[in-house]
Amino acid sequence: LNLTNNLKSMKKVGVLGGGQLGKMLAIAASNWHLPIYFLDPAEDAPAKNFSHGLTIGDFNEYETVFNFGKNVDVLTIEIEHVSVEALKDLQKLGISIFPQPSIIEMIQDKGLQKEFFQTHQIPSPPFRYFESKIDIINGQVPYPYVQKARKGGYDGKGVSVIRSVNDFHLIMDTPSIVETCISIKKELAIIGSRNQNGDISLYPVVEMVFNEQVNLVEFLQCPAAISMEVENQIRQIATLILEKMEICGLLAIEFFLDQDNKIWVNEMAPRPHNSGHHTINAHYTSQFEQHLRSILNLPLGSTSMISPSIMINILGEPGYQGDAIVMGLDTVLAHEGVYVHLYGKKTTKPFRKMGHMTIVRPTIEEAIMLSKQVEGKLRIIAKVE
Ligand code: ADP
Repeated sequence: LNLTNNLKSMKKVGVLGGGQLGKMLAIAASNWHLPIYFLDPAEDAPAKNFSHGLTIGDFNEYETVFNFGKNVDVLTIEIEHVSVEALKDLQKLGISIFPQPSIIEMIQDKGLQKEFFQTHQIPSPPFRYFESKIDIINGQVPYPYVQKARKGGYDGKGVSVIRSVNDFHLIMDTPSIVETCISIKKELAIIGSRNQNGDISLYPVVEMVFNEQVNLVEFLQCPAAISMEVENQIRQIATLILEKMEICGLLAIEFFLDQDNKIWVNEMAPRPHNSGHHTINAHYTSQFEQHLRSILNLPLGSTSMISPSIMINILGEPGYQGDAIVMGLDTVLAHEGVYVHLYGKKTTKPFRKMGHMTIVRPTIEEAIMLSKQVEGKLRIIAKVE
């Protein structure tokens, strides 16, 4: 086997976005010495030093995306807020774009996602469209309801829960969907993937465990504490979505399990996702390698669990802003089964995603116990001026 020729035969992969998801994608790509390039506005984007090249620019700008994309063989994304127009034109030039531009376009608009669910009879909370704040106020929607901006939201930004007239100040003045408020028992997610051959694979369902006091996700648990029946229903819905969408690449799907044990699809992301970070340490194939396999039409890897796991996001500590300082790495690493991933973001701010920790133990009970011990021991602060 001639290594040089082998490398030449490797497709050049381009990625829109070079944040932590890009960095972890690049680490997976380096196992195959796959040439991978990134486009990101930040000079010190997390993916920079793990890639074959970082182009600095805006992935929302037509020209920038077009010029970046025409130099690669396969173009993918680590964020969905990108210029779809440029992707459509690159596709016409013969560049492979996965996930497909039409899918990215649908995902960018929460209204179009809802229409996709309706078309395929996928259970999702009932909704109505509204153009503006005043339309919602005049719409006589029964309380409580959830307003979601059709475009541009992420990490809970762009979502408002309205419980009474007293919450009207929270209503955003933008084209929105307004959904029935689900009485949530658990929030669950599944990551699936599909390649061009139509092969499909699914990871086990993950549970997002909330901290009741601050109403933030405290950790992610795999496997989820759900019945086989719920797990299987979610797998069935996910398979249907992957098939109908004909996506090439990874698809993360978020679900609600309500108080009556009914399952609702919340939303989707066609890329590696926060709810799949544990797969790096706890599964035979990481979500990042699986994404590469899917977009390069390679055989999909085993999604089997090596070990139960807990994933904790490491967020910038409230009260600190500036050059990031990592505290307590030695403390958490002293525990067997704790794996730390730091994203290398130069500056921290309250609640910014700075890294994550995966805790693997032979049983989920032990993993939860250890996660309680190490939670909060790895801190990202900044020098106080
Ligand atoms: P984002 O795209 O910002 O992640 P989501 O659609 O996931 O927004 O909503 C953020 C959170 O708001 C969810 O995790 C859930 O806790 C809550 N939420 C969203 N939709 C509903 C709903 N229909 N009923 C009840 N809670 C909801």
